[in-house]
Formats: sequence, structure tokens, C-alpha cells
Amino acid sequence: MNHKASNKLQDLQYFGEYGGVNPSISDSSTYTFLSAKTMFDTFEGNTEGCYLYTRHSSPSNLYLGEALAAMEGTETANVYASGMGAISSVIMQLCNTGDHIVSSRTIYGGTYAFMKNFLRKLSIGTSFVDITNLQAVEEAITEKTKMIYCEAVSNPLLEVAVIKELSKLAEKYGIPLVVDNTFSPLSIPAAQLGASVVIHSLTKFINGTSDCVAGAVCGTKEFCLSLKDVNNGAGMLLGSTLDSFRAASILKNMRTLHIRMKQHSHNALYLARQFEKDGLPVAYPGLASHPGHIAFKNQMNPEYGFGGLLTLDVGSLENANTLMELMQDRKLGYLAVSLGFYKTLFSAPGSSTSSEIPIEEQEKMGLGSGLIRFSIGLDNDIERTYEVMKECMQLLGILNPKAKKALQE
Ligand code: PLP
Repeated sequence: MNHKASNKLQDLQYFGEYGGVNPSISDSSTYTFLSAKTMFDTFEGNTEGCYLYTRHSSPSNLYLGEALAAMEGTETANVYASGMGAISSVIMQLCNTGDHIVSSRTIYGGTYAFMKNFLRKLSIGTSFVDITNLQAVEEAITEKTKMIYCEAVSNPLLEVAVIKELSKLAEKYGIPLVVDNTFSPLSIPAAQLGASVVIHSLTKFINGTSDCVAGAVCGTKEFCLSLKDVNNGAGMLLGSTLDSFRAASILKNMRTLHIRMKQHSHNALYLARQFEKDGLPVAYPGLASHPGHIAFKNQMNPEYGFGGLLTLDVGSLENANTLMELMQDRKLGYLAVSLGFYKTLFSAPGSSTSSEIPIEEQEKMGLGSGLIRFSIGLDNDIERTYEVMKECMQLLGILNPKAKKALQE
């Protein structure tokens, strides 16, 4: 495993148009050609370094793609207007009508809905399986299967995929392993472990400022170019192009990703350990009690830790909602979906980001209605955060039932 993919990121250096330390932002949708022949050749995909039209590519988008490829250790990367733009492009590129996907059953609700509902229109079927059960994954593969799809660390249950084993399986059947690495940038080097295509929602940790949506596909030159093909490329033809100004601002934010990931992981591990000591049903891959702990440990770049996400089951949706409102009042963070922000974000996935998954299936996969997903922020004083969180839980009787009674009276 290459523990130092981030060194490639560190080595990136830019010289803007006028010698600026940031590359100039490409403020054009279209580009001129001095010769008509070069324009034709560019359409045919034969002229490297020539820009044609921004939906195809732009200098700013290429700079961001270069940084993402350096981070994942892939040949190249394309950027998109959202994580779903990246996911839908990859799937549409790899699958035709009548094909089949084997996917982890615990994935982001939007991806689940895309596979289960939208792809049905194209007669593309998906088998949702327990991705940690390799036998179940293999048994689901049919002649029509065109990919194995999973999240390195799943949303919201934090299941950990064993990428090396899954990639061996994918190789055995001659199909790609597509891994969404949104929850674990830098900490799990998905491509190095054998993923053929790595997807990110840049909206989350990579941008880190909750001010835009964006996505990326990291992979081989051949695959990323196929997505941009003017005749058949799903990225090019479905049109989820990232705006150049946004690509430039994400690139700037990405420069602090390594520092932020360490702090997110440090804070999440601290809180998870405290909650566990308090006897609360906390799930965090950094805890030895987590079913995916060993799998994460075996795949990780240790310096970045186990990530910023943890879940806590507080028993009922009512408890979850009251606790989240109280924590927001106490300035501990925001009752909001999404993740990777400097403040802690909390939501109950069963009734929000995973609500696309039918209740019976949520129950089967262990997603209780009282489950709160926390994206732990960059708090400088995490001990104080814990004390205030504990106070909130005591007030609601989640830590001490007697206190709840007193509050009600
Ligand atoms: N992948 C994961 C794991 C996510 O959590 C999300 C969004 O929450 C997405 C993909 C979709 O990304 P976006 O909202 O940028 O389209």
C-alpha cells in the first residue's frame, strides 16, 4: 500500500498565467482555435492540451482533477457538478440496458434510489448485498453483472468494505470495482487497494466548507477519457459539469485536507471513546468494538485516523430529534445533513439521508430510527464539547433516566 500518496499532493505546484501562486481561473465556456484543422482534431479527441468547450473540460477543472488523482494515486481524475453527477456518470458509462450491478446495501440514500428506482427505467437491475460477506457478494454476481459497487466506509452505518478482497473478486469475474470514498479521503487509499474507479462527493470533507456541491471520478486515463467522449461519454453527455470558479475554490480548500482529516479523526475518536465508557451504543471504526475496526486498520494510512463520522443510537426518533435540537441550542453544531464541515453536523439518517430506503430494509440492515449520524467538527476543545454533549444527554435521560423524569416534571 502506498502510504504516501499525499506526498504527490504536496509536490503539486502551480504557476498562474502571470506567475501567480494560484492557477488562473478559466473564465470561458468556449475556446478559440487558430486553425480549423486543430478544432476538428480536438473534437476527435486527438489533441492533448487543447480546450474545446467547458462541458468537455476546462483548465480549472483539470487542475482540480490533477490534485484528486495525486491524492488517490490514480492516473487521472474528472470533476463533476455533484457527487451524484459523478456516480450517475460512472454507472451510465459502465452499464447498458439489461445489465446488472452488485451493490452494498448500506450506501448513501441517493445512490440507493438511483440504482433501485431510476435504473429500473433502463432495465438495469441491482442486487443489494451485505458487502462484508464476500460469499454473498460472489453469489449475487451473474453473467449480466457489470460492476461491484460499494462505499469504503458506508453511509450511514460505517460498514467497512475490504477493498483488496472485493477487487480480487471483481478481477475474477472481469468486472470493475467502483468505490465511493467520500467518508475516508486520505485515510483509505481505495485505488491503491485495488478499486478500479474511485468516486468522491467533494461536497463533504474534500471541500470542507459546506458552500457547494461537487464530485469526482478518479481512475485510468482510458476510463476518464471515455467519460468525456463527445459521442458516448456519460460525463460529457449528461452534462453535470463543475463550474470553473468552484473548481478553483475547491482546489484551494483541498490544501488543508490533510490537517483537517487528522483533527476530524482525533475529535471523533475522543468522543467515541468517551461515549463508549459511558455505556452508550456508539459506532466508530476506530473503536475495537466496531465490526469493521480490523478491516479499517488493515487498509488505512494511520496518520489520518479513522475518520470524522460516528453514530449513536438513542433509542427512538423522538429522543434523537430532542437531543439534536438541544445540541444545536447549546452551539455544539448544526441539525443538518451532509458532513465534513468545521462544525459538527448531526442528523437522523432514517428520516433524512437514507429515507429513500424502505423502513423494512432499514430495519434489516440495522438502521434504527433513533440512530444519529454525527460528522464531528474541528473543535479545538473537544473535551469541553464532550462535557456539554454529556450534559444534553443527561438532561434528556439518555445517560441517566432519572434526569429525564425530573425534566418532564
Ligand atoms: N456519496 C456519499 C457517501 C454521500 O454521503 C453523498 C451525499 O451525501 C453522495 C455520494 C452524493 O454527493 P452529492 O450530494 O455531492 O451529490
